[in-house]
Order: sequence, then structure tokens, then C-alpha cells
Amino acid sequence: MTIFTKIINGEIPSYKVAENEKFYAFLDINPLQKGHTLIVPKLPEPEADYIFDLDDDILSEMLVFSKHIAHGIKVATNCKRVGVAVIGLEVPHVHMHLIPINKEKDMSFSNPKMTLSSDEMVNIANSIAEAIKC
Ligand code: AMP
Repeated sequence: MTIFTKIINGEIPSYKVAENEKFYAFLDINPLQKGHTLIVPKLPEPEADYIFDLDDDILSEMLVFSKHIAHGIKVATNCKRVGVAVIGLEVPHVHMHLIPINKEKDMSFSNPKMTLSSDEMVNIANSIAEAIKC
């Protein structure tokens, strides 16, 4: 079982942003920017690791789910754009990164990661969750 399945199951805590029956969105624990969110499909074991191994339907639905989360991130952070990245070299469970950016360099994965307090993480997760509904 992957660490992301444990997060989806509530066995490991996360700063949840949103979920539906197929996807779970939560804050990256080592964000590049405040509001950096991961979108993870709820997958049977063994979980697909590589995004382009997903069935067409779930791959398409993941992008549409991400669109709603990106709207929430944009409103909550007042960023210029929400950048999208798929890396997947660390956690072997398909996921997309949604990162609020104002310039290209804001989503460079060679940048140092931010350290936010638990209160800051809770606050930004709640702000994004609220903004998704609008
Ligand atoms: P990658 O697999 O290269 O896309 O990177 C995995 C991402 O997951 C990294 O940005 C990590 O900071 C993030 N990550 C790993 N474990 C957790 C966790 N327990 N909660 C939130 N984010 C995590």
C-alpha cells in the first residue's frame, strides 16, 4: 500500500483540500509555494505509479477534478496562474502537482522547499477548500 493510499484512508494525516469518490486533494508537505496541492486518484492495489498507465476515463476525470481545485488555489492565493506538474519519482502512486505561481521560476523543483507551520497549512487548506465552492 502506498503512502498516498494511507493518506486517502486516513491512516496518515494530511491537510485535505477536497475529495470525491475517485480523487483526493491535499497539501504537499514540502511545498514549493504556499498552496502547493497534490491530486491523487483513489486506486486499487497495486496502485498505478505512472500517470500514462491510467485508463483514459480516469485520466480525463483527473484533469477535470484538478480544474476545480486549481480554481480554488487561484482564488485563495491570488496567484497569476496555477502550474501543473507530474514528476512521480518519489512516491509510486499517480499524482499531479498544482502550484500557485506568479513567474516561471516559482515552480522550479530545484528551488528550496518552504517550511510552513501547521496553522499556516490548515489555514491555506481551508481557504482553498472554501474557494472551490464559489
Ligand atoms: P514526486 O513523487 O517526485 O512527485 O514527489 C512526491 C511529492 O509528495 C513531494 O513533493 C513530497 O513533498 C510529497 N509528499 C511526500 N509525502 C507526503 C505526505 N505525507 N504528505 C504530503 N505530501 C507528501
